[in-house]
Amino acid sequence: TDPGVIRNFCIIAHIDHGKSTLADRMLQLTGVVQPREMKAQYLDRMDIERERGITIKSQAVRMPWEHDGETYAFHMIDTPGHVDFSYEVSRSLAACEGALLLVDAAQGIEAQTLANLYLAMEHDLTIIPVLNKIDLPAAQPEKYAEEIAHLIGGDPADVLRVSGKTGEGVEELLDRIVEEIPAPEGDAQAPARAMIFDSVYDTYRGVVTFVRVVDGSLGHRERIKMMSTGATHELLEIGVSSPEPEPTKGLGVGEVGYLITGVKDVRQSKVGDTVTSQAKPADAIIGGYDEPRPMVFSGLFPIDGSDFPVLREALEKLQLNDAALSFEPETSAALGFGFRVGFLGLLHLEITRQRLESEYNLDLISTAPNVIYDVTAEDGEVHVVTNPSEFPDGKVSEIREPVVAATVIVPSEFVGAVMELCQARRGTMEGMDYLSEERVELRYRLPLAEIVFDFFDQLKSRTKGYASLNWQGEGDQAADLVKVDILLQGDKVDAFSAITHRDHAYAYGVRMASRLKELIPRQQFEVPIQAAIGSRIIARENIRAIRKDVLSKCYGGDISRKRKLLEKQKEGKKRMKMVGTVEVPQEAFIAALSSD
Ligand code: GDP
Ligand code: MG
Repeated sequence: TDPGVIRNFCIIAHIDHGKSTLADRMLQLTGVVQPREMKAQYLDRMDIERERGITIKSQAVRMPWEHDGETYAFHMIDTPGHVDFSYEVSRSLAACEGALLLVDAAQGIEAQTLANLYLAMEHDLTIIPVLNKIDLPAAQPEKYAEEIAHLIGGDPADVLRVSGKTGEGVEELLDRIVEEIPAPEGDAQAPARAMIFDSVYDTYRGVVTFVRVVDGSLGHRERIKMMSTGATHELLEIGVSSPEPEPTKGLGVGEVGYLITGVKDVRQSKVGDTVTSQAKPADAIIGGYDEPRPMVFSGLFPIDGSDFPVLREALEKLQLNDAALSFEPETSAALGFGFRVGFLGLLHLEITRQRLESEYNLDLISTAPNVIYDVTAEDGEVHVVTNPSEFPDGKVSEIREPVVAATVIVPSEFVGAVMELCQARRGTMEGMDYLSEERVELRYRLPLAEIVFDFFDQLKSRTKGYASLNWQGEGDQAADLVKVDILLQGDKVDAFSAITHRDHAYAYGVRMASRLKELIPRQQFEVPIQAAIGSRIIARENIRAIRKDVLSKCYGGDISRKRKLLEKQKEGKKRMKMVGTVEVPQEAFIAALSSD
C-alpha cells in the first residue's frame, strides 16, 4: 500500500466515554463488519474484558474509507485504558500519527484521558478533539468544548460533536481523519524495522504479534529477528486484521498488522521491541525499549495445600499471555507453599487473581500487597526487598521507596477534601490548575505504597464519586520506614509482617494484635500476641487459657452426641495450622489478611 493513503490513529478516552461504541459505528460505516454480524463492543472479544467492561489488550483494525475519489487505509489502534498498562499505551501511541480525543459530552475530560493526551502530545501526534454522546439530554457540548480548547488550544467550534450511539457526525469524523492526520513517513529501501505494540497468546495459533512497520518491509516466509534478544523466527503468517485476520504477502512502510511465528510465549515477542529481517538487519532499535517492571508484589497461597501444582501451572499459562506477570515460589510457615507474584499495579493483581479463581477453580489467600524497597544495611549492602521477610535484620542506614506523580481531577468544591487525603498519605503538592471555573486538576507527589491499597476508594468516597485519578512512576525517595513483626507466643508469623512508615507502625501493630485475639480460639495455655519492631515490643494482647474438657458438657450421658463432638473437633483440626505450639485456624489467617 502507498504510505500516502495510510492513516494510523488511536482513540484516547476515559472508561465509559464511548470508545467501543464509536469503534462499532466505524466498523459499520466502512463496511468491514456486515450489519447482520454486528454486535455491541465488537472488538472487546476477550471474556475478561467483557466481564469488566474494560479493554486490557490493544488491537489494530484496518478499514477502507473513500474520500474525494481516493480509497484510504485506516489503521485504528486500540489502547488499553488503565494506568497499570501505561507502557503498552505509550507503545500504541508511538505506532500512530494521530489520536482522537474522545470526551463524553455530559462528563468532560477525566484524569486518565488527560494523562494519555499528554503522552500523545509528547509523541507529537495530531489530536482531533471529539465530543461524544451528544444525543444525551444531559450533554453540554458548549461547556466541554471550551474546556478542551482551553487544554489543547484551538477554537471550541472546531471540536467535533458526534454520537456513537446514533451515528451522528461519525462520517464527518472519518473525513477529518483523512484531512488532518498526516500519512506515515519511512524509508522503503532501508532495512526493515517494525515496532511491536502488542502481542497476544492464542491457543490455536500461538503468539500473535501486532506491529507497525516504520522502514522497509516484511514478507511471508521471511526470517525475522527480534532486536532486543537477537532471537530469529520464520514468519509463518503475516497479515492485517479487518477485523478478522486476513493473511497478506507482506507489510510495508506505515502499515499495521500482525505476525505469527509459532512461538508459544509472549515474552519472546515483547511489546516495545523492534522486528527486523535476519538477512538484512537494521542497526538501531526504534525509540528505546523498556522491560515491563512489576510495581506491586503479593504472596498467593492455595487454601488447599494440595492445589500448589495447579497454581503453578495456572500461573505459567497466564504468563504466556502476560509478559508483565512474574512469580517465584515462596514458603510461609503460616500459609505453606505458594508464590510471590509481581504485578504492574492493583488492577493487574485483581484481574490475575480473579482469573486464577474462576478459570482454574483455585481458592487463594493473598497476603497484603507491597511495593519494592531498596534497603541499605549498615554494612553498605543494598537489599532489594519485595517481601517483608527479605528485610535485613539489624540496623539499616537507608530505605528508599518508589514514588509516583499523581493527577486528580475534581469539581472545585472538593479540593479541600482531596488535599486532606493526599496530606494524610504523605503527599506533597506540585501544582494545581483550573480546567474551567468548576473543575480543578491537582498534582501530587505520593509514595506508591500509600496509594496501592485504598487510596482510590477513599478519594471516591470523599468526592461523592466525582474525582478521577491517574499516576505514573517517578523514581524513589528515602523514607522513615520500619518492619513490624507479629509474634504468637514469641514466634514470628511471617504472613503478618509488614513494612510501614514509622508513624503508622504502632497503629498496624495494635490493629493486627487485637484482630488476632478475636480470631484465634483459646488454647490449653495462655498465648501472648505481640507486635514488634526489631526486638522492641510496640503492642501486646493475651489469649487466655482454657482448661475445660470439651466432653465435660455432655455429662457423660449421650454417646452419639459425644462421638459427633469428637468428629467435629477432628475435622476442625485439619484446617488448623501450627505456629510454634499454637493452633491457628486457617480462617483466622484469611480474616486477618483481608483488608477492611
Ligand atoms: P468505552 O468504555 O469507552 O469503550 O465505552 P462504551 O462504548 O462501552 O460505552 C459506555 C456506555 O455508554 C455504554 O452503555 C454505551 O451504550 C453508552 N454510549 C456510548 N456512546 C454513546 C452515545 O453516543 N450516546 C449515548 N446515549 N450513549 C452512548
Ligand atoms: Mg471499551
